[in-house]
Amino acid sequence: MEIQFLPGVGPKRAALLQKELNISTIEDLLRLYPFRYIDKSSFTRICDARPDMAYIQIRAKVLRVDLYGAGQQTMAQSGEGVKFNTVKRMSVWVTDGYGEMEMVFFKGIKWMHEKLKPGLEFIFFGKPTVFGTKINIVHPEVDTLTAEKLQMAGAGARMTGVYPSTEKLKNAGITGKVMNKMVDAALNKALGDFEESLPEYVLRQCGLVPLHFAIRNIHFPQDAAALEKAKYRLKFEELFYLQLSLLKQKYIRSRADNGIMMPKVGEAFNKCYESLPFPLTGAQKCVITEIRNDLKSGHQMNRLLQGDVGSGKTMVALLSALIAIGNGYQACIMAPTEVLAQQHFKNIQKLLAPTGVRAALLTGSSKTAERREVHQGIEDGSICILVGTHALLEDNVVFRNLGLAIIDEQHRFGVEQRSRLWNKSSVGVPPHVLVMTATPIPRTLAMTLYGDLDVSVIDELPPGRKPVQTIHATEGKRPALYNFMREQIALGRQVFVVYPLINETEKLDYQSLEAGAEDIMNKFPFPDYKTAVVHGKQQNDVKQFNMDAFVAGRANILVATSVIEVGVDVPNASVMVIESAERFGLSQLHQLRGRVGRGSEKSYCVLMTGHKMSKESKRRIELMCATENGFELADEDMKMRGPGDLEGTQQSGLPISLNIASLAKDGLILNAARDCADSILKADPTLHDDKNQLLRKELRKDKYQVKDYSKIS
Ligand code: ADP
Ligand code: MG
Repeated sequence: MEIQFLPGVGPKRAALLQKELNISTIEDLLRLYPFRYIDKSSFTRICDARPDMAYIQIRAKVLRVDLYGAGQQTMAQSGEGVKFNTVKRMSVWVTDGYGEMEMVFFKGIKWMHEKLKPGLEFIFFGKPTVFGTKINIVHPEVDTLTAEKLQMAGAGARMTGVYPSTEKLKNAGITGKVMNKMVDAALNKALGDFEESLPEYVLRQCGLVPLHFAIRNIHFPQDAAALEKAKYRLKFEELFYLQLSLLKQKYIRSRADNGIMMPKVGEAFNKCYESLPFPLTGAQKCVITEIRNDLKSGHQMNRLLQGDVGSGKTMVALLSALIAIGNGYQACIMAPTEVLAQQHFKNIQKLLAPTGVRAALLTGSSKTAERREVHQGIEDGSICILVGTHALLEDNVVFRNLGLAIIDEQHRFGVEQRSRLWNKSSVGVPPHVLVMTATPIPRTLAMTLYGDLDVSVIDELPPGRKPVQTIHATEGKRPALYNFMREQIALGRQVFVVYPLINETEKLDYQSLEAGAEDIMNKFPFPDYKTAVVHGKQQNDVKQFNMDAFVAGRANILVATSVIEVGVDVPNASVMVIESAERFGLSQLHQLRGRVGRGSEKSYCVLMTGHKMSKESKRRIELMCATENGFELADEDMKMRGPGDLEGTQQSGLPISLNIASLAKDGLILNAARDCADSILKADPTLHDDKNQLLRKELRKDKYQVKDYSKIS
């Protein structure tokens, strides 16, 4: 029912509610949940009031009323003959027998003055704040003391919800109190129309309260326990249907027989495997076996490969690609940046040498002639592995028979792009897909972004790695840092010095990089030391030349912007200096640190910061010094950034938007919801059982329509 027909609303307020809060029906109003609650169920003693408390309720008697004019001038206390338009402030002293407190008013003074007569008792409600050495409440809500209110406060009065609001709503008289009244009216009018959206047996199995109870109590909780149950139920439901729809797709796909069949390992794989420069780790072998099984299953593979920085995902990618090639198909490997695509290509070229398989590189900066040649080779099938950036997604890239698409991604790489690769195959069957996350992302986010994928984890680093020691330092320590760098270089090691590049076009960032590079070149003079500088403003060939100098060991120091963040591999580098480390996010810091500690030498990461840091920056630096575990860091990162920042993620990658649940905070509920969804689908993959009718119906609702990525063109 339209919101304007709710008593007390009408067309004008309805229009405003629509515009400001996107509420057009009574149902919408009931689905707008409070973001906070005010507890009016008990009184606080004045002597117990603290400024860090949220809202408190005080029952107290008025002692005296002071009026102040401009410049804090005291005015007649009785108020008789006072011109109220000259009064700037009214201070009302009250006592509850345990202490005294001041209630302060700057507005509505005349009216309050009439009401708050000395000797009378009231209920005051508001947020305690510190003023000087005392605690007061500014503009408390004031209620006369009635038997009814006392009883309510005494015996489990309900908590009141606080709803999102805007200036315009307040100006139109839609205050918190009015919202509460509207919601109350809406509950009476429309709650009966809400049909239970979870099957009875799910409620029972998962210990959930019914929908009506949940909606009533999310708005007007009977008590704290009821509120918790209501929240749990609503969050569970949201996460449950999200997981159900993701998992359903996974089940459907795993039952479909449209996967490209790759029955053998093939000669290319074997030749490459025999000449690997090192034995694979146990984890790498396991993952390759999993992939191998997928490829010969007849079902399309959709697998996520998670592995911390430096765990050796590239090798897995290459060997998987070789299986596809051994079965007569092409493969592509897509990287998030040009530098990384180039490095992949080089490494792969080396490893491919004994196999005779032809690979090519395609990036945004490939020249027209090269491009044409690559397009040609891809189309006629003479090129078997194509490595590149987003350029691979362009329409004019047509494969003869793409069998496997590998995406080496940073977590910003969206599902949309994933889906575009699926349509790159001209054989009319979707290629197998392997997504590799370069950064561990929080598990809850992974379950949602990649909830439809099978997951493999590389949980073992190649042998001989030593932990990276992480140190926090400020400017005063710079001479010591430089000495330390000299020692390391004398031992034959190499050093990264990284500057933040938050914004490619930001001049300041380049200035600090250039100043920093100059300082380094002064303190580490040529020819004793060789410094290479790499940043995004350089021509590609210059960039490549400098990068190569460092990779090949001709330069001792690489001064760079965070372009090296993703994947550069220089095992001889043992020191990573991160300048202005407070400006980097946790996952970026972790990525950067992952650039060292790849060889067998002890490595160091030095986080240089200013003295002044925000609380969050400080926490990030502490965490970095405390742990090297990427998953731990990712979870912490998400907790710190909170749901606010997640909204950005939702837009960029999440298949549906969440109303009440938070991926940052509700990991446990997410687990429970996913387990429940999984067990239901295991028993009834198509949801055709009678008892699952409701699930099928709910899944068809727009809000749960997760895109079927394989069908997006
Ligand atoms: P990431 O998972 O971060 O992409 P890479 O694939 O870049 O990691 O591998 C990191 C480094 O470890 C590379 O130098 C690679 O050659 C090396 N490496 C990979 N697998 C092994 C292994 N099994 N034994 C020793 N070194 C390995
Ligand atoms: Mg990598």
